[in-house]
Amino acid sequence: MGEKTTIKFECPKCHQWHQDVIDSTLVTGSKIFPVRYPYVHDASLVILCYIDAHFTIRGFEQITLGKNTVDALVKKGKEQKAATTAADWKNIF
Ligand SMILES: [Zn+2]
Repeated sequence: MGEKTTIKFECPKCHQWHQDVIDSTLVTGSKIFPVRYPYVHDASLVILCYIDAHFTIRGFEQITLGKNTVDALVKKGKEQKAATTAADWKNIF
């Protein structure tokens, strides 16, 4: 398994602190910054996190999901989040 990095952020939606463990290569392997990382907030909301080269979150975008997107997320990512790769997410967004 590759190296993991924990990201934490104060949620722009509910103002709680959330954290997620991401594959470090999402950032260290990227040539384009900020990296967009989709945090699955709940069944109808994704918080798109904009992460810079130092794993600092510089901004957010809230994406409200339709049913088709939710189904795609659940199928492709949420239930298998530990194994989800950047390529998988790029197929969704
Ligand atoms: Zn939240």
